[in-house]
Amino acid sequence: ASGSDDNDVVVIGGGPGGYVAAIKAAQLGLKTTCIEKRGSLGGTCLNVGCIPSKALLHSSHMFHEAKHSFAHHGVKFPSVEVDLPAMMAQKDKAVANLTKGIEGLFKKNKVNYVKGYGKFVSPSEVSVDTIDGGVTVVKGKNIIVATGSDVKSLPGVTIDEERIVSSTGALALKEIPKKLVVIGAGYIGLEMGSVWGRLGSEVTVVEFAPDIVPSMDGEVRKQFQRALEKQKMKFMLKTKVVGVDTSGNTVKLTLEPAAGGEKTTLEADVVLVSAGRVPFTAGLGLDKIGVEMDKAGRILVNERFASNVPGVYAIGDVIPGPMLAHKAEEDGVACVEFIAGKAGHVDYDKVPGVVYTHPEVASVGKTEEQVKSLGVAYRVGKFPFLANSRAKAIDDAEGIVKILAEKETDKILGVHIMAPNAGELIHEAALALSYDASSEDIARVCHAHPTMSEAVKEAAMATYDKPIHI
Ligand code: FAD
Repeated sequence: ASGSDDNDVVVIGGGPGGYVAAIKAAQLGLKTTCIEKRGSLGGTCLNVGCIPSKALLHSSHMFHEAKHSFAHHGVKFPSVEVDLPAMMAQKDKAVANLTKGIEGLFKKNKVNYVKGYGKFVSPSEVSVDTIDGGVTVVKGKNIIVATGSDVKSLPGVTIDEERIVSSTGALALKEIPKKLVVIGAGYIGLEMGSVWGRLGSEVTVVEFAPDIVPSMDGEVRKQFQRALEKQKMKFMLKTKVVGVDTSGNTVKLTLEPAAGGEKTTLEADVVLVSAGRVPFTAGLGLDKIGVEMDKAGRILVNERFASNVPGVYAIGDVIPGPMLAHKAEEDGVACVEFIAGKAGHVDYDKVPGVVYTHPEVASVGKTEEQVKSLGVAYRVGKFPFLANSRAKAIDDAEGIVKILAEKETDKILGVHIMAPNAGELIHEAALALSYDASSEDIARVCHAHPTMSEAVKEAAMATYDKPIHI
C-alpha cells in the first residue's frame, strides 16, 4: 500500500519545500507520494529550526520582560523564575501539534506518505528503507529532491549535542549554561545566543568574518550589533577557533585572530557551533543517476527546478539560493506548477529575510552596499522608531526603517527594518518591491495610527521628500 503504483510526483523529503510541493501537486490533481525519513513531517524548520527556535525566543523574551521591564510599566510581582522543563514542554507541544497538522493536511489532500530513507534506483524509481525495517520501491514520472540541509561541522570540533552542540542541541539544553560560546554570528547563532542570554547565560559570539550577519545592510548591522551588545552579548570578530579541549569540567577553546597572531583561550560550559548549513544528499544515490551538483554539493537546476536528469527536480535548501523555509515553499509550489504544465515563478531577489532577535531585523531587496556596487544612483529614506508614537507609547523604540530607492524613478530597491516586530512589518515592503512600486506609492497609502507601520510610511516620505514627524 506504500505507493508502489506509478505516481505523477514523488517528493523525497517532507520539509517546507517537500511537504508544500506534495500538497500543491495533489491539489493540482497529480498522484503524489512524499517520502520522509525523520518519522515526522515539517523537516528542519518545524522539528529543529524555525518553529522550536521561535517558541523559545518568545518564552525567553517573556521571562526577560517580566524580570527587567514589567515593573517599569507598573506591573509588579515578588519574584520571577525560569521553569526550563515547562518552557521546553511548551516548545515541544507546539512542534508536535504542527507536524501532526501536516500529516492531517496530507490525508485531506490525499498525499501518500511513506516513512523511510529514500534513494534513487533509477531516475523514476526510489527505493525506501522504511522506518519499520522494510524496503519498498516508489515509482514516479517526476521525482522532486527536497532533502534540505544539515549543520556544517567545523574541523576539529566534534559535536556531542551535550557540551558542544549544534542548533538542534541548543534547542534542548537541560540546564541554563553559565557561559555559552557561539561560534558563528549568523542569524541562527544570534537567535540561540539571545534565548540563552535572556535566561541568564553569559554569551560570547566568536566570528571569523569582520561583521555579524554578512548579508545585512551595513548601517542597520551596526545598530543591530549595538542593540545586542546592550543586552550583554559579547562579540569577538575576526577571530577563529583553532582548538577545543573537552577534558576538563568546562570546554576550553583556543582562539586566534583570523589574520594569524597570538592565541588566546576562552572557557565555556556549552559551545554552540553555528557556522552555517550544508546541502544534505547523503545516501541518496544522485551520483548513480548522474545528477549534476556544484562544488558546495548543491543540486544544479534550471528556472523550472529541473536537474540535468529528465524527470528529476530539486527545491529548497538543497539547491542554490537563500536557505530559508519560505523560499523552499515557493520553490515547491513553482516546481509542481511547471510539472503540471502551468507557469511558476520565484524571484530570489525578493525573498524577505528576518532575524528574530529583539529587536528583530528584517530586510527585502538590496542593501546599500549592493546598490552602490551596482553603480545605481539612489536615495535613502530613514525613520527611527524613537520618533514613532506607538513605539514610544509601549517604550520599545529601538530601531529604524531604511528605504533605498532609485534616484531617477523613485523605484524601491531595498528595505531594511530593525524593530520589535520587523518580521511582520517587512511584508508591506515585499509587496511594494514585487509590484515595482516607488517609495511615493508607499508614502501615499494611508497607514493606521498609532502603529509601527507608520515608520515605514515616514521612511518612504523621507526617500523622495520629507517625513512629518522628525
Ligand atoms: P528541510 O527542512 O531540511 O527538510 C528536508 C527533509 O528531508 C528532512 O526532514 C529530512 O529528514 C528529509 N530527508 C533528507 N534526505 C532524505 C532521504 N534520502 N529520504 C527521505 N527523507 C530525507 N528558515 C526560515 O525561513 N525562518 C526561520 O526562522 C528559520 N529558523 C531556523 C532556525 C534553525 C535553528 C535552523 C537550523 C534553521 C532555520 N531556518 C529558518 C532554515 C529552514 O529550516 C530551512 O531553510 C528549511 O527547513 C529548508 O526546507 P527544505 O524543505 O529545503 O529542507
